[in-house]
Amino acid sequence: MKILKIDHLGIAVNSIDDGKNFWSEILGLEFEGAETVEEQKVKTAFFPVGESEVELLESTSPDGPVAKFIEKRGQGFQHIAFRVADIDEALEELKAKNVQLIDQTPRKGAGGARIAFLHPKATGGILVELCERN
Ligand code: ZN
Repeated sequence: MKILKIDHLGIAVNSIDDGKNFWSEILGLEFEGAETVEEQKVKTAFFPVGESEVELLESTSPDGPVAKFIEKRGQGFQHIAFRVADIDEALEELKAKNVQLIDQTPRKGAGGARIAFLHPKATGGILVELCERN
């Protein structure tokens, strides 16, 4: 598989409106606006940082994955996302290596990306996202 770069770092927050202040006002990062991804029960906000981005994640439902994450571990760093050249090929390779996946096939992420998550049990405890953008 070809990993191109760190696409973004995902950070779970209770509220993007409250959470974005540090990133935009204090650090001076540009707030690109928020987008809701209903399938994942999440509202996201992206802040470009050079070649990568910071992604804030706010749950839209108490049973969403981000709400569950915050319930267990509190607000904070939630996942690292790698940009890959070809996500289908990457998933096939991981399956061949018997890596435990959350997503067997790519799903739709924010900004029209195709994304898939690896299981933290397979990565030493970190939630890893693969992301392909055209
Ligand atoms: Zn992400």
